[in-house]
Amino acid sequence: MSLLLFFSLALFANTIADRYWVLRAGEPDWRLDRLGRRFWALLIIGFGQRRLLYERGPGWMHATIFFGFLVVATRTLMLIGRGFDPDFTLPLLDGRLGQIYALVKDLFAVLVLIAIVYALWRRLVSRPPRLHLNFEGVLVLLWIAVLMATDLLGDAAMLRLHPDSPEHGWAIVSTVLMPLYGDAATGTISTWWQVIYWAHIVLVLAFLNYLPWGKHFHVLTALPAVFFERLTPSAYLAPMEFEGAESFGVGKIEDFSWRRIFDLYTCTECGRCNEGCPTYTTGKPLHPRELICDERDQVYALADSLVEIGKLKATGRTEAAAEASAALQRPNLIGDVNSEDTIWACTTCGYCMTHCPVVIDHVPNIVDQRRYLTMTEARVPSALQTALRGLETNSNPWNVSAAAREDWIGDLAVPHLREKQKAEYLLFVGCAGSFDDRNSQVLRALCTLLNRADVDYAILGTEEGCCGDPTRRVGNEYLFQMQAEHNVAAFGKYDVRKVLTACPHCYSVIRNEYRDFGLGDVEVVHHSELLADLLAAGKLTVTAGADVKVTYHDSCYLGRHNDIYDAPREVLAAVPGLSQVEMPRTGRAGFCCGAGGGRMFMEEDIGQRINHNRIDEAAATGAAEVATACPFCLTMLDDAVKETERSEQLEVRDIAEVILAQLDTAAPTPQ
Ligand code: SF4
Ligand code: SF4
Repeated sequence: MSLLLFFSLALFANTIADRYWVLRAGEPDWRLDRLGRRFWALLIIGFGQRRLLYERGPGWMHATIFFGFLVVATRTLMLIGRGFDPDFTLPLLDGRLGQIYALVKDLFAVLVLIAIVYALWRRLVSRPPRLHLNFEGVLVLLWIAVLMATDLLGDAAMLRLHPDSPEHGWAIVSTVLMPLYGDAATGTISTWWQVIYWAHIVLVLAFLNYLPWGKHFHVLTALPAVFFERLTPSAYLAPMEFEGAESFGVGKIEDFSWRRIFDLYTCTECGRCNEGCPTYTTGKPLHPRELICDERDQVYALADSLVEIGKLKATGRTEAAAEASAALQRPNLIGDVNSEDTIWACTTCGYCMTHCPVVIDHVPNIVDQRRYLTMTEARVPSALQTALRGLETNSNPWNVSAAAREDWIGDLAVPHLREKQKAEYLLFVGCAGSFDDRNSQVLRALCTLLNRADVDYAILGTEEGCCGDPTRRVGNEYLFQMQAEHNVAAFGKYDVRKVLTACPHCYSVIRNEYRDFGLGDVEVVHHSELLADLLAAGKLTVTAGADVKVTYHDSCYLGRHNDIYDAPREVLAAVPGLSQVEMPRTGRAGFCCGAGGGRMFMEEDIGQRINHNRIDEAAATGAAEVATACPFCLTMLDDAVKETERSEQLEVRDIAEVILAQLDTAAPTPQ
């Protein structure tokens, strides 16, 4: 036992040490803040398996194997101890607690065997599209099954040899299996027990050494991955430091932070991220699982060199590390491992991240590579170049003169902060509301409602600049930081306390990212939330509409990234006669419109158009209208209706327009 433990643990330690040095080749990323929250996440997401239990069958299957493995592993520790002392038992696991443990362990071993049969059936027979059939997956399932079987059969032999054992009758499955040894003599059963015992121990230690070499490394890395997860909102991107940097973003694997490399080790290849990814679904080259796996393959291929770079960095020899990194001959991360089309395809919708059971962060990974393309290489798609030029010169992606930012108002009474100086809400109009005709109509509808409800609000007008969401997500961090600082200064000038916006992208970036640029204690409100409150408080009253069926399309930046699902539906529910029907992909699983992550300003010439895929789904509900609460979604779905020739059948409107159309103008004006 001593020799077996020594050699197997030494081999394991050697493998893990190499993995550690590879992580040290990555950039630093402090992940030991807010320890309370980290332990909570470990409890809920890690041990509680929360992200897996959203799915009934496979989720419960995985949770059963996970818990069963923990319970049986405890038994294995005990068995290892018995290799030195036949009476060894773990602290607390003697007496009645030991008997209860024997019962629980036996039941779990059987449950794990049932779960494995189900898992094999899914892999080999029913095989959902997201699952790959691979040898490793089947091998590991069979390996675990043999571990469970040897545990039960070994205990059955042990009970035959020690009929007075306190576990007799408690280890019910092992007790039931005792007759398997028939009338064999004690010596024969003892031999069986020894064979099964050593087989179990050798298989466990071999399993431990096998894990780091395949996708089942996640058995070891998943819990640390959850503990060291990013605690910021899902849409948040960390600001970059520019001082002294020679290259920006991630152009090679060791430019990633250690935590992002840890993501690569942790992927289980389950394919949940692919399932609702708009680019995967519509035939584009970006498949989030393959992105992670391809990058992981490069880490493994470069492991020896990365170990050396990691050791140099860890010992403070950063110049030598940079030289070793520059001298390393390898395929390009962008271009060979990931194509540029792959990197630009992402809409940053967040589906992958919110569905990944091991909290892998795909979007920051992709945006880091966009930062490299945009700022280090100046290689961006041509349509995006035009948008970036507009953002730089006129602070809007349409490159309309900044002086025209107030033209959308027309003859509507909209108060300005420069005149009013103070208002309860700053209405942050955003570029779409200011410069895109269709969305200007939404802003006009919203202001009409605000005027009607006597809300104290005002706009910045020409003092407003682009919120910076598209700029940041396409990787131009330098320009984004200037945009954020400009708006934060304008908010400070008028001592703004509440920002109201009809754009989830403005909402998200101001709420989640402006604090890094000096934003103080400012509440950010989406127009769906304010309209829901005004309707509930009777400050807006609506009359019965036509008997119309409406389907609401969740904006990724409102729903998935900021957890606002109910308010827009409450606004629609306030209209008598209007009935709501949900699309199959809704709420947390909502399907993107295709415009986020700066995609609004790029060509979409590979695969099916994402907005067409979504509008097909909306049309299939039989709804006559699609309601949105985001200017990008409105534009994309409006375009899709026209392009798929459904103008007679479907109308796309913002929730503010739906309410304005039914506004009861005869109701008394609120006081
Ligand atoms: S953020 Fe959305 S588009 Fe990008 S990889 Fe994830 S699921 Fe796909
Ligand atoms: S990234 Fe996450 S969701 Fe995607 S395959 Fe890997 S573990 Fe599964």
